[in-house]
Amino acid sequence: MPKKGDCKPIVERIQLRLRLASNGCLEYTGALVDGYGYISSDIPGGSPKRVHVVMWVYHRGPIPVKSPKLCVLHKCDNRRCCNVSHLFLGTRKNNNDDMRLKGRAKLSHEGTTNAAAKLTDKQVLEIRSSKLAYRTLAKMYHVSFVMIGKIKREENWKHLLLNRKLTYAKTR
Ligand SMILES: [Zn+2]
Repeated sequence: MPKKGDCKPIVERIQLRLRLASNGCLEYTGALVDGYGYISSDIPGGSPKRVHVVMWVYHRGPIPVKSPKLCVLHKCDNRRCCNVSHLFLGTRKNNNDDMRLKGRAKLSHEGTTNAAAKLTDKQVLEIRSSKLAYRTLAKMYHVSFVMIGKIKREENWKHLLLNRKLTYAKTR
């Protein structure tokens, strides 16, 4: 991979890779890990940085050290978004509560959109093969009850179906 821009300061490198989405999200178009944008550190040998955290600190200043630890969270649920007005500081617990609440509002989205994108392929397969109640699964994976239903009915993640479909049909 070409490292052309890498001598530039990290914020400049991030800004080169942002795209404004129609909903106001500033989406990072570089590398993603688990849906979050990542960029190499300015410090040689430093670990890669989460892009939205870098942008938060750049605009709003350092994250206060507190217990429980504060994280930079997304109001928009779009992990690759770096729009500072879509971000807020909260604890991990705030984030989980928030995702649970939003899970309900995101029902109409399909496939690769935000709420759905939180699940990995592996998780989707786990959900499909699980015997647990929908409600329990929704809690476990922080997605909505309806999302679980869609996964169970194979209305999304169709690329994962393969030959599972046959065995699954029998158990329904
Ligand atoms: Zn956003």
